[in-house]
Amino acid sequence: MATEKWGVEMKLGLFGGSFDPVHLGHLLVAQAAREELGLDSICFIPAAQSPFKMDAQPASAEVRLRLLRFALAGFSWAEVDAQETTRAGVSYTIDTVREYVRRFPAAELYWLIGADHVAMLPTWREAAELARLVEFVVIPRPGDVEVPLPLPFRGRTLRGFPLGVSSSQIRARVKAGLPVDFLVPPAVAEAIRNSRLYL
Ligand code: ATP
Repeated sequence: MATEKWGVEMKLGLFGGSFDPVHLGHLLVAQAAREELGLDSICFIPAAQSPFKMDAQPASAEVRLRLLRFALAGFSWAEVDAQETTRAGVSYTIDTVREYVRRFPAAELYWLIGADHVAMLPTWREAAELARLVEFVVIPRPGDVEVPLPLPFRGRTLRGFPLGVSSSQIRARVKAGLPVDFLVPPAVAEAIRNSRLYL
């Protein structure tokens, strides 16, 4: 990834999540963020273990990364970053953000966050430092009321394109023997079928 554009600092979107599996909701969010904020790149960063989903065992990192790479193949603005899965253990956003500050000291960093997580932001590890290092982009989901960012966090709410689809819904459909076509990209649906994932 180029670290600087001519004379302008690079704007980098950081999109963390379980991605278990990636679906069209994630991809539309990334596209909207890119357009609305003028981001140069978006890094998809699957968590090894979300501190908020300690009771759930995700599919292996290898599987989730593979599906992400299928979903994003050919999109030059999208990157898949395995750093949280190689660090292992619980994934804390501050550790990941510090790594981006180290890699791209001149970049403006935007952290994409689901509206359902906003109220909990003050409890995130090293919250004050995190608020200093990144601007937050709140992702609304259909039917959500707009949640203001608690101080000292800075950011804005994304306008487009909320889609009522979730990874848990996709896992439940696969388990029930229902198709997941049109909820995930064709290559992801095919990989889920071929590798007999989420059965
Ligand atoms: P699960 O159903 O397993 O809880 P999920 O579909 O919410 O998973 P995650 O990988 O946990 O997916 O999501 C990563 C981020 O993407 C979160 O911040 C989440 O709020 C957001 N997100 C997921 N699906 C959508 C969607 N359909 N529309 C908008 N944001 C979404």
